[in-house]
Amino acid sequence: MSFVAVIVAAGSSLRAGAGLPKPWRQVGGKTVARWSLEAMLAAGADHVVVVVSDNHQETAIKVLGDLPRWSVVVGGASRPESVVRGLEALATSPETPVLIHDAARPFLTTRHIHSLLEALVDQDGAILALPVTDTLKRGDQTIAANVERAGLWRAQTPQAFRLGEIKAAYAAWPTDAELTDDAQVAAAQGASIALVAGDPRLMKLTYPEDFSMAEALAETRWRSRTGMGVDAHRWGPGDGVWLCGVLIPHDQTLIGHSDADAGLHALTDAILGAIGDGDIGEHFPPSDPQWKGAASDRFLRHAAERVRLRGGRIVNVDVTLICEQPRIRPHRDAMRQRLAELLDLPLDGVSVKATTTEGMGYTGRQEGLLAQAVATVELPA
Ligand code: MG
Repeated sequence: MSFVAVIVAAGSSLRAGAGLPKPWRQVGGKTVARWSLEAMLAAGADHVVVVVSDNHQETAIKVLGDLPRWSVVVGGASRPESVVRGLEALATSPETPVLIHDAARPFLTTRHIHSLLEALVDQDGAILALPVTDTLKRGDQTIAANVERAGLWRAQTPQAFRLGEIKAAYAAWPTDAELTDDAQVAAAQGASIALVAGDPRLMKLTYPEDFSMAEALAETRWRSRTGMGVDAHRWGPGDGVWLCGVLIPHDQTLIGHSDADAGLHALTDAILGAIGDGDIGEHFPPSDPQWKGAASDRFLRHAAERVRLRGGRIVNVDVTLICEQPRIRPHRDAMRQRLAELLDLPLDGVSVKATTTEGMGYTGRQEGLLAQAVATVELPA
């Protein structure tokens, strides 16, 4: 589903202690604001506006500049003003879903975002919220009263609305009225707002000690998964062979329904294996004529997309090609580069190796080529 987002990173963060404001401090080896922007982009945001305080525009560009599809806007003196400036910078149609999110909640996932967008389909708004589980007291030094906790929720962000409606709601909001979230503004215009299951890990970094808890959370946030893939194709008459997305001149070719790129097929299966998502034959049945002669990069791209849809990321891949001929070494760098490009990975996350079986077995007799691949993937815990 198409959506846009505003990440509010303009607060002065007085409660979090002296020094750099919260959004620009580090958690889990990453700037706090970057976690949220990456999550929005990974979930498919068309555009994200990051609202910063006047003196942190350069910081934002330095820290986030390598990421696509975002822009920076300077916020106002208060959170509502900052949100309004962020909303104004979004030039999409009034029906477009917009997620408004506090940068101080770094551990956002694709799952959170998609559940909000789903709830927004038949509501005016949707927020992440957690039911209150602690017993509540009212008082000052001593207890003055018990507070009934049934039906009470802790509101989190993101909060989702349609762009035109939330803009209009802010335009109608009295500027001097107290405000701590966007749902209040929408509700004041009669909006019906869904409560969507929040997540304790989406904690707001408020006090200095919250950062040490966030450090611990950052470490447990991903679980690592490994998959392997194997593929073999038979040699036949031809004048070139596709291996790992690169065409190598050779006096034979590999025979197959698609382009028979055994390297890409093994790697596609390794990635699908890592996320427990079947195999290449299930996603692209050889019986389907549309895959006849197909370039295998689309199979690999599809597997990478399946990882992305789960909110995951590929960490590294390793392919081994087993054959006597052709010589792989001269083409290895081109193959690594092609795979890095197809999977959007840094070059050191991609390995291509080759070996022979010293004349033994079907690869040794040059009846066929065997490819093996391993992929490591991280999925949100
Ligand atoms: Mg194959």
